[in-house]
Amino acid sequence: MKKEEYIQSLKKSKYKITPQRIGVIDYLNRQPGHFTAEDVYRNVKKVETTITQATVYNVLRVLKNSGAITSFEADGQTWFETNLEFHGNLVCRKCGKIEDVQLDPQSIKTSELLGDRKIESATLIMSGLCSECARKESLGNQ
Ligand SMILES: [Zn+2]
Ligand SMILES: [Zn+2]
Repeated sequence: MKKEEYIQSLKKSKYKITPQRIGVIDYLNRQPGHFTAEDVYRNVKKVETTITQATVYNVLRVLKNSGAITSFEADGQTWFETNLEFHGNLVCRKCGKIEDVQLDPQSIKTSELLGDRKIESATLIMSGLCSECARKESLGNQ
């Protein structure tokens, strides 16, 4: 999502545009991916020095409520992310990094196993090795 789109989705949900909110949006733009509230706070504070942790939590909640970002629980933490497409989040058991795994939403929505059920959204957390750790491990085994 572009900066302007984040701002639009806040406006659409009747949220005010404050320097702190812009600070968080700028961070999301620089660093799309997966992040905890703590990550956002540490990084935004470098620019918006007066921002508090409570404000960061508030901005993330507001962005989530307006549909600009999404969140999930993994590894005992709440993660926020900018990828709104249906996908799986692979949590690396070695380095803790989270990588997106693209999945075909149609194959899940139209699975015969679903019967009459209707899937509208899904959060899929997978555990294993990220591409970097998997590569290192296969090199080590040679
Ligand atoms: Zn890894
Ligand atoms: Zn993801």
